[in-house]
Amino acid sequence: MPELPEVETTVRGLARILDGRRLASVDARRPDLRRALPPDLRQRLTGARAIGFRRRAKYGLIDTDRGDTLVFHLGMSGHWRVDPAEIGKHDHFVLETDDGRRVALNDARRFGSLDLMPTDALDDWPTFAALGPEPLDLDPADLRRRFKARKAAIKLLLLDQRIVAGLGNIYVCEALYRAGIHPARAGGSVSLERLKRLVPAIHDVLAEAIAAGGSTLKDFAAPDGELGYFSKAFAVYDREGRPCRCGGTVKRIVQGGRSTFYCPRCQR
Ligand SMILES: [Zn+2]
Repeated sequence: MPELPEVETTVRGLARILDGRRLASVDARRPDLRRALPPDLRQRLTGARAIGFRRRAKYGLIDTDRGDTLVFHLGMSGHWRVDPAEIGKHDHFVLETDDGRRVALNDARRFGSLDLMPTDALDDWPTFAALGPEPLDLDPADLRRRFKARKAAIKLLLLDQRIVAGLGNIYVCEALYRAGIHPARAGGSVSLERLKRLVPAIHDVLAEAIAAGGSTLKDFAAPDGELGYFSKAFAVYDREGRPCRCGGTVKRIVQGGRSTFYCPRCQR
């Protein structure tokens, strides 16, 4: 599943092709993905110039010079194909630029979404208004306030989009490991000192993943849909029963229906 670093990589990849270009052709090839596409998508985008490329949580944002923002979510299987030789049945949305480049949003499982919002109304969009801060903007004291008196496991709190936006399972596991914090520990019981180690760990883990996935075009548009996870660098994620660097063994538990990987020796 595409996580925050893959979305960031995708946005940067799209910028290299679309930035400053007019959208000469806009083709919505079906009426819906996870939910209905805006019916006036083609009309509002055709002829507009793409001028801004950003990410919010796991949403990619493309601003146009008409004051609109195209908001995409990659769902489970979504990715953009670059200059595809032909348009396939899972290419649901195709943009063509005034200099002849073409990108296609391919989403076999159709859990993704496409929305078109007035740029100045984005912050009030209920989907965005409910989100917590970006992981890269986190501040330890602010996180401590958000965790205050919470008995839920810190792992689950970090996955709660209202507390931190867009932080996925892989990166939470890796960041907790780096900070030496047990994933089942009650969020409200983690000291400010320890959160001061956790926040840079979150930053580092995301920055490394973005760097690993962000360097080449093929990483964000691989034919198989893989998006450049930095899997070789995982210390605990998906490593149940394998040795930790400390000599201990990585364990797996299930929290909130999802696997958590951690080292019982390194994480307290
Ligand atoms: Zn260990």
